[in-house]
Amino acid sequence: MRGALGGPRVLLRRLREVMAEPVSAQDRLDKIVVLIAANMVAEVCSVYVLRVDGTLELYATEGLNRTAVHLTVMRIDEGLVGTVAREAEPISLSNAQAHPAFSYRPETGEEIYHSFLGVPILRAGNTLGVLVVQNRAHRSYTEEEIEALQTTAMVLAEIIASGELTAMALPGAEPAARRPLHLKGLALSEGIGLGHVVLHEPRIEVTKVIADDLPGELNRLDGAVDTLRASIDIMLEDEGVARVGEHREILEAYRMFAHDRGWIGRMREAVMTGLTAEGAVERVQSDTRARMLRMTDPYLRERMHDLDDLANRLLRQLTGRAGGSEHKGLPDNAIIVARNMSPAALLDYDRTRIRGLVLEEGAATSHLTIVARALGISAVGHVENIVGQVDSGDAIIADGVSGEVHVRPPADVEAAYVEKVRFRAKRLEQYAALRDLPTVTRDGTEIELHLNAGLLVDLPHISETGATGIGLFRTELQFMIASAFPRTNEQLKLYRSVLDAAGERPVVFRTLDIGGDKVLPYMRAIEEENPALGWRAIRLGLDRPGLLRSQIRALLRAATGRELRLIFPMVSAVEEFDRARHIVERELTHLRRHGHDLPERVLVGVMLEVPALLFQLDQLFTRVDFASVGSNDLVQFLYAADRGNPRVADRFDALAPASLRALKAIADKAAEYGKPVTLCGELASRPLEALALAAIGYRKLSLSPASYGPVKAMLRELDLAAAAALVAPLLAEGEVASLRQPLKAFAEKAGLPL
Ligand code: PEP
Ligand code: MG
Repeated sequence: MRGALGGPRVLLRRLREVMAEPVSAQDRLDKIVVLIAANMVAEVCSVYVLRVDGTLELYATEGLNRTAVHLTVMRIDEGLVGTVAREAEPISLSNAQAHPAFSYRPETGEEIYHSFLGVPILRAGNTLGVLVVQNRAHRSYTEEEIEALQTTAMVLAEIIASGELTAMALPGAEPAARRPLHLKGLALSEGIGLGHVVLHEPRIEVTKVIADDLPGELNRLDGAVDTLRASIDIMLEDEGVARVGEHREILEAYRMFAHDRGWIGRMREAVMTGLTAEGAVERVQSDTRARMLRMTDPYLRERMHDLDDLANRLLRQLTGRAGGSEHKGLPDNAIIVARNMSPAALLDYDRTRIRGLVLEEGAATSHLTIVARALGISAVGHVENIVGQVDSGDAIIADGVSGEVHVRPPADVEAAYVEKVRFRAKRLEQYAALRDLPTVTRDGTEIELHLNAGLLVDLPHISETGATGIGLFRTELQFMIASAFPRTNEQLKLYRSVLDAAGERPVVFRTLDIGGDKVLPYMRAIEEENPALGWRAIRLGLDRPGLLRSQIRALLRAATGRELRLIFPMVSAVEEFDRARHIVERELTHLRRHGHDLPERVLVGVMLEVPALLFQLDQLFTRVDFASVGSNDLVQFLYAADRGNPRVADRFDALAPASLRALKAIADKAAEYGKPVTLCGELASRPLEALALAAIGYRKLSLSPASYGPVKAMLRELDLAAAAALVAPLLAEGEVASLRQPLKAFAEKAGLPL
């Protein structure tokens, strides 16, 4: 490098001094461009800032006409500067005028400069502006110079992101770094959350980017990389952590990247340009993110995500925040923002403070979504790069009704949402007014509405809604939030509380449904290629009957003197049901023999969620006391589409004739055998879907508490005979791809509240 003033490290040191000076933001920028130009022996150095309106404004220059500052504004699709901003990649040219993207702005007087080096000013992968140096002579900038300018751009990113420049901008032309964002995702859990961002895995704020002692920084970086590698090895060795397929795969990818020479080499090079170890990790991470955002191949994007996660871990090592004390100091109105998370991780937070959840991934019937719904937390998924676009503490609105997310919303948007929340509260009051009215359709058919539950926090919903009972109590949730297997008496205590809260109303307890995406952090599990199709739920229960037996015993004892309703999850063959029922009978005999009081009555049912059971319905309905349709799993297995995989989960419509016919066959057969059947999957929780279910013969639905009011309000207005008359021929002919549109049109015409 030809730096006359001592190379990039000296420059960074001088920049640090300028950053510490108590001067205005404009003066700071003016001094910085002078320093950079001198250091890089360039006649010109300019800073362009990306504005809210998507244009680039010249904010400071050394060498170009100073009167052009704040006057020269370019579109992002214009000129070399625009190209750098768009592509988020450096451009280095010895003959800039010859480049097709070159555009000449006479007010700047730049026609005499032939060489051009522009680098993006990046933060968390987002472009905030462009930093440019220009020379009169035709010269080729070296790799080191490009590298050095990129490092310098990090300092500018800090200034822009700090909001210091906002005050000097005209309204509407503020720097884009803190601009309001309106993003569209997928509504996962109803409700509207207004609050402040809490990053589930917070980015570590790097406060010191300029190094004092380079060899020392290199040592720190190497040390952190070694610790990172060792921690991944430990995780991989610990079977308890590296349980099954997907998790292990991620760790294997992490291990590969943690040993990747290119990645480590880039970070070491960044240190050599004068950065601290943290500064270097962030520089390389920012480049990675910028590339990731432009990547269309999902596999490669995923790998970039892995690298990003790994860089975060490295930053935690370096800043001594490896333990992650994230949950402390949660604001009152937290909106959790994450790429994805486990249901247990969500339950770790203080629920009373969470108003919403915004995810880059997530799916409508995943267990995280189910837990969010159970907790009444609004959630939006599929929000692209949300983690990279927010900072902790940013104002944010998560609209779990429309799937929209507003980051740093303008005052009018916020006011509109406050109004919306007020309106919803009023609607909730209206639902509450329906509480003591029966759920009977306009033409006189009663539909029983039950609740899905699984946690103590769900219990008040029974009296709030006036539900007929609990149609599905997911017992595994207690296991998922515990740090060790809940003891039999802890289980017993929970079950007794549930029965007490329900009083005279029936409760259907489902035995443990673990496996698949419901993992217990403390349970050793074997590695499986396809956990959803693997050793889970009743399969595990029958093979390891100790666990199932103790749970059944707890349930039987909790229900002393009352009625106990039990169902088994994921039954695939009638023999499995026979064996499970046999365990119940043995436990009853055992308790009787030991002089325990028994339940007044025990009813044993089955979850219908494996398609094979559809072809054993006659055998099944002669055995079971009742059945419950788990449409989440049934639909995923019918269409062979993973319910937790956002790429395929919504690919097939549950209101397509194929699934509705399957569901109707179950309802018809249950009616033939006179056995009660409830539908307890998430389908029942959506008014339009609930309409379809009623139309094909379901008279009992079990839904999430937040959906209770909307579904009840719809059913009370429904002309069921007319709906059934619409659906029957469409299902018989099967020519429509989905019944969604015809049902929507029907609902609109009838003025049904959906
Ligand atoms: C279902 O599969 O529809 C169901 C109710 O069970 P879960 O969602 O807990 O798997
Ligand atoms: Mg299920």
